[in-house]
Amino acid sequence: MNFTDLGLSPEVLQAVSDAGYTTPTPIQEQAIPYVLMGRDVLGCAQTGTGKTAGFTLPMIEILAAGRAKARMPRSLILEPTRELAAQVSTAFETYGKYHKLNMALLIGGEGFGDQERKLDRGVDVLIATPGRLLDLIGRGKILLSDVKILVIDEADRMLDMGFIPDVEQIVSFLPKLRQTLFFSATMPPEIRRLADAFLMNPKEISVAPPASPALTVEQAIVVVQPDDKREALRRLIRSEQVKNAIIFCNRKKDVDILLKSLVKHGFDAVALHGDMAQSKRTETLARFKNNEVRLLVASDVAARGIDIQGLSHVFNFDVPIHAEDYVHRIGRTGRAGMQGRAFTLAAPEDGKFVASIVALIGKEIPLGAVDGIANEALEYDDSGRRRRRAAPRSGAAKGADEPRRSRSRRPESGTGRSAHAVDPVAEPVRAEAAPEPVRAESPRSETPRAEAERSTSSRPPRRERGGRPAATPHRPTAEPIRMTPEGMQRSSNVTVLAEAAGRRGRSHAEEREEAEDRRIVGFGDHLPAFLARPVRLARG
Ligand code: AMP
Repeated sequence: MNFTDLGLSPEVLQAVSDAGYTTPTPIQEQAIPYVLMGRDVLGCAQTGTGKTAGFTLPMIEILAAGRAKARMPRSLILEPTRELAAQVSTAFETYGKYHKLNMALLIGGEGFGDQERKLDRGVDVLIATPGRLLDLIGRGKILLSDVKILVIDEADRMLDMGFIPDVEQIVSFLPKLRQTLFFSATMPPEIRRLADAFLMNPKEISVAPPASPALTVEQAIVVVQPDDKREALRRLIRSEQVKNAIIFCNRKKDVDILLKSLVKHGFDAVALHGDMAQSKRTETLARFKNNEVRLLVASDVAARGIDIQGLSHVFNFDVPIHAEDYVHRIGRTGRAGMQGRAFTLAAPEDGKFVASIVALIGKEIPLGAVDGIANEALEYDDSGRRRRRAAPRSGAAKGADEPRRSRSRRPESGTGRSAHAVDPVAEPVRAEAAPEPVRAESPRSETPRAEAERSTSSRPPRRERGGRPAATPHRPTAEPIRMTPEGMQRSSNVTVLAEAAGRRGRSHAEEREEAEDRRIVGFGDHLPAFLARPVRLARG
């Protein structure tokens, strides 16, 4: 199918062609005709699928006729983060270059003055994060009663960030008669409930199995002691041909700590997280996108939707607690058909989180080892508690970013050479036999409500946060992977997660116990995102 078959005007087609696109992506192919018809759309699509153009192109067509009144936008796009909002506004500029549509971007962290002046002139397209929009509504600066098209983008991310009550409030200010386009990478029951409330007879579109990583991303997990992670990361960066990489941490404070450590060791790095001032975030992202700096240490704020051309690597300094975040993080690389490589540094006690990632993506992730760093095995603990702390090791400089030298497998052990002094070329990252076979255990089962919804629905099985995707296949392993600086190559001496699943024999009693356990819904030590209502700091 061509863009010309989708019902778009010559001006929009010209803008698309100027952008260098020749064929529509599947989401564009499916969504554009329905949006042009005025239908509501429920799209299950990840970023990187071309979804932004999927809604912006037909919106430009629809909005081409008509004029906006002061402070009364004609369309509203809600985005969970400022970066995504800014990216959508760039898309409007690119695709709307032959139209005279007024657009305003309302994001937190920037002055109100400019934003209000734009609103006063009348905007056709308003792109906003929920917090800032509510502020302006509360101050009487904006009226949503003229909004004809509403887009809710990255709805599951809104849920994670605690924005759903804000979104519900915003939607209550909109006219009932409108067109709504609702996009989410995953469709847990809470999101489905929202979609049912906001959409009328929507056309449902799903372009990829929810949360499946692109095939163009080669993945590996390296299990090391937490204290060895920084050194392992440095060695990985040195031995991989890293053109540019995002390094994800679970916590904002770790982003800063890791950044300092990398800079101290001579790496070219900057940081991005939600506590930074918006101007700094924008500047940092721009520098990284322009290849002025090679490494971006980030929290999950950077994981969703941020489009960086040709990112060669993603490193997860921590295993994400929510399996979906893994998919979003590694999805920053391997975009637009290019190859990408993603390494995850796991601590032994991260077994449970690794298992839920494996269960989510339905695919094994090869284990590997970094040469010179003691290779560990993943541990599983159904209670979700971090079971084991790394034993204190002699000679370890507490809190400092010094390599530990007490491991027998480390080449420099006993030689007096520090790990970071080792010639990187002589330190390829290589695969080794994993110390212990590991199995992809099923995380806790879905809630009874989720199960009930599934059984009464004719829709394909939906996945719930922290829950096991229904009938996710744990296929026996194919050939495992060997990591070398030249690329991850097939090898026979790496144990792969899913392979081990079949090998660890379990008694009937154990299986019964596990089944019993799955009926109990508990959160262990982890507060689920939907209970955690962030304070205003996290708002856009
Ligand atoms: P998105 O999922 O909207 O974030 O888009 C991901 C990337 O795909 C962006 O860099 C877009 O510029 C690009 N893109 C969108 N549509 C197309 C298309 N039809 N052909 C090629 N690239 C596209």
